[in-house]
Amino acid sequence: MAILPDAKLYIDGVLRTAEDGRTFEVIGPWTGEPVGRAADASAADVDAAIAAARRAFDTTDWSTNVALRVALVTKLRALFEENRDRLSDLARHEAGAAIGAVGRAHVDMALEGWDDYLRLFPQIAWEKDFGARTGYGFETQRRAFYEPIGVVGAITPWNVPLYVNVGKVVAALLAGCTVILKPAPNTPGMGAIFGELAAAAGFPAGVLNVVFGSDPALAGEMLVTDPRVDLISFTGSTGVGKRIMEQGGASLKRIFLELGGKSAKIVLDDAPNFAMDVAQSMLVFHAGQGCAVHSRLLVPRSRYEEAKAVLKHAYGSFGDNWGDFDNPQHIMGPVVSKKQMERVLSYVQLGQEEGATLLAGGKARPDKGHGYFVEPTCFVDVTNDMRIAQEEIFGPVLVVIPYEDDEDAIRIANESAYGLSGGVASGDFDRAINVARRIRAGSVSVNGGMCIAGDLPFGGYKASGMGREWGLEGIEEFLETKLVAWRA
Ligand code: NAD
Repeated sequence: MAILPDAKLYIDGVLRTAEDGRTFEVIGPWTGEPVGRAADASAADVDAAIAAARRAFDTTDWSTNVALRVALVTKLRALFEENRDRLSDLARHEAGAAIGAVGRAHVDMALEGWDDYLRLFPQIAWEKDFGARTGYGFETQRRAFYEPIGVVGAITPWNVPLYVNVGKVVAALLAGCTVILKPAPNTPGMGAIFGELAAAAGFPAGVLNVVFGSDPALAGEMLVTDPRVDLISFTGSTGVGKRIMEQGGASLKRIFLELGGKSAKIVLDDAPNFAMDVAQSMLVFHAGQGCAVHSRLLVPRSRYEEAKAVLKHAYGSFGDNWGDFDNPQHIMGPVVSKKQMERVLSYVQLGQEEGATLLAGGKARPDKGHGYFVEPTCFVDVTNDMRIAQEEIFGPVLVVIPYEDDEDAIRIANESAYGLSGGVASGDFDRAINVARRIRAGSVSVNGGMCIAGDLPFGGYKASGMGREWGLEGIEEFLETKLVAWRA
């Protein structure tokens, strides 16, 4: 029985079904049963969305009317506020968020980030004067104008769908772009609500469009390859990100990528709260399905046995306090899909084959329901060259790696294709900052500091992506620089 309202496409100002009437079931991670139904966009629907966004950018005043944009984006924010409960329902039923995690990571952070964008937006400089310069026997005055880049294809994942949708859509709209939002097939409702509320807010037709479908690649590939789309802002896996880079190259559109991670948290030997730092590394929040989670825990070899004992105790205490849809204390639910569960379990098997020791968890838990429940899992005796230490598992699986000294810890942290985030815990602030500065990642938390907030630029080094989302830089990503020079 469907729990969520039908997810409709929003194309050229109209909320509608797919042109051929096709729909697909949205399967709930808690039950493995349908929780809703979504329109299944065809190529014709995606084409219509691209045409509408192009027309709205080229022929309306959206790109130049800053006051209109601020008014409508502010009005849309108010409508999202009125729909907080629906947003929570969507995060819980579509993305499998546990009720104890839904506020923090799914709804509050996204809406606070939206407010940050609105607060920062007046700081955008639309012009910059470069002054006069004399050359070739005459004087030239120079000025740059910053202009919206055009039509944006925003392709988003299922793990924290509201947060990522807001990160792209709100920034692009404020910048003056028109947008086609393409959420993941698992979370169409969290995209559809943007269309529904934009229609209610009175957005001009074509400025925001929302398309989704059962085929994970169809709409995204059309956006990436279509020359009418000027910029792709993608969040998702590194594999798909590489494909987007290749396919987008043909039309030389701008491409920004927020990709996967295998981030390391280094607990230094002088960490004053060593046991707490180690215990808090358990990868349980949202079943470990966060791009920036610290899925590699690095502890000094001199304290490795102590760390193992702490983790054994911590996982034991966490026990079965997860996986209950209605328990407000629970921060961990299922993983998002059967496919994802099988993927996580295959890594558990691989870790054992590679010679790591399973300290906790490792099994599916069908006793918790017909959904996709995998136990909080921890591997010790892991070396950094193992695949479980190098590849993003995207589930509740922590790997614990010993190191010899600070240099060794930094080496291990950096010996990764990824570079999204990291952490350092130490009693010596300068030492911690020195280590943090040598980790090649887009953000590093020292002694638990929060790197993720709507006013901070977020993004990755290396295979974790390119470009920055959120903060002022997140809006500037959607602007082009035009230089105008005139003879004085
Ligand atoms: P995914 O790469 O499978 O899909 C992401 C989006 O791309 C979806 O909308 C999907 O339908 C679409 N897509 C799939 N194939 C495509 C193609 N060929 N062309 C264009 N679009 C295509 O990722 P996912 O499983 O939805 O999400 C999990 C991944 O997202 C993890 O790797 C995670 O680390 C990453 N992630 C990164 C960040 C970040 O900010 N760096 C944030 C959240 C999630």
